[in-house]
Amino acid sequence: MKRSDERLPLFGTNGIRGEPNADLTPDFAMQIGKSIGTYFKDGTIAMGRDTRDTGPMIFNAVSSGIMSAGKEILDLGILPTPAIQYYCKINRIPGVVITASHNPPRFNGIKCIAADGTELPRNQEEIIEGIYYDRTFIQATWNNCGRVRIITDAVERYLAGVMQQVNAEAIRTQEFRVAFDAGNGAAYSSTPELLRRLGCSVVTLNANPDGKFTSRNSEPKPENLKDLINVVSSGKFDLGIAHDGDADRAVFIDSTGHFVDGDITLSLIVKSTIKPGDRVVTPISSSDAMDEICAAGGAELIRTRVGAPLVSRTMIEKKAKIGGEENGGIIYGPHQYCRDGAMTAALVLNLMAARKSGLKELISEIPEYHIHKLSTDRKVEWEIIKRGILGYASGMKTDTSDGIKVFLKDGWVLVRPSGTEPIIRIYGESRTFARARDIAQEYQALIDGIQEGASAL
Ligand code: MG
Repeated sequence: MKRSDERLPLFGTNGIRGEPNADLTPDFAMQIGKSIGTYFKDGTIAMGRDTRDTGPMIFNAVSSGIMSAGKEILDLGILPTPAIQYYCKINRIPGVVITASHNPPRFNGIKCIAADGTELPRNQEEIIEGIYYDRTFIQATWNNCGRVRIITDAVERYLAGVMQQVNAEAIRTQEFRVAFDAGNGAAYSSTPELLRRLGCSVVTLNANPDGKFTSRNSEPKPENLKDLINVVSSGKFDLGIAHDGDADRAVFIDSTGHFVDGDITLSLIVKSTIKPGDRVVTPISSSDAMDEICAAGGAELIRTRVGAPLVSRTMIEKKAKIGGEENGGIIYGPHQYCRDGAMTAALVLNLMAARKSGLKELISEIPEYHIHKLSTDRKVEWEIIKRGILGYASGMKTDTSDGIKVFLKDGWVLVRPSGTEPIIRIYGESRTFARARDIAQEYQALIDGIQEGASAL
């Protein structure tokens, strides 16, 4: 297989991703399983998966490899990624999640979890890659091979963990009416169960585990949530909630049917939970509203490169209370150091109950910023584009820790090559939608011009 010839990195920003039986074959998955089983010193490894049709095939291949290294598998079944991470955390055992998050249904993936419930850091993934390429697998004798134990209480432990972080009694008294769109994903039963335990009356959409995601695209963007938006627009709901495929993210629709950007939810939760002296971690791609909110609340804001695992790690190092990304991935430290869709939903309901306010009213208290996101195909080396942008922005303050962020008089623009696709992502932020869009378009045109110029040479 191509992957084995060139010693290319196998793990990306969020584990190994690929198309089953194309680049993600059962043979490859089994060898990754052998590498994982060799790497982890613990005798037991928890495993779970999302609803994808290819989940059992990849799960069985990976678990077979792990068992051949003499490790026992705890099969948690279909669960949200954060529920699997929580199980790892409370039992102090490593884990593996078979998921491709929000990617289209033809993909799947393998993600490793450390015994503290966080995504495995890059340097440890590199050791697993080394075992894979060097074929230094532990091979147990027949009487030492691992077995599978079916675990049925992981979801119960997870829901109890989430409930513990909020004032469930206060939420129950509000009897919220919630529409929830599971998008056929991993939280199809756990999030409705959580909402009911919080006293909500719940109407579900697409809450069947359909591994082809036939109801909607798994990425929780407004254009993919038209049904949910329509349902909530009826005026009969206090809130709409949707997850991505593995439910580590949550996005919200307010009672008027308005889609709330992940950035705004993050700002809102940060504003309502920080106390003076707290630390907050977010990547350079999230809004300046975060700076304003943290300054007003006496909290310290720490910016990182883009990527949720990095935010989690930084939160642990800096003992931060809360962190997250602009896409609806929120990390609540008192619960666990990973993105968690159900925890995010519970925090929003908790805030609505505490303030006896609708989401729309709460949002009106957040400083208004807009982020406009565009992308363009990458046709030349990133270094050429980078030089062109730095030349264009000479004299302006820039940050090149991850792509290029240019600070403008009335906002900023972040340009970075995607880690998974041959595209350049462009984020423009300003106080108005029109200006944010103009900034993003200006840099999109600039990049296209740089690329045309370079390819004409
Ligand atoms: Mg996800």
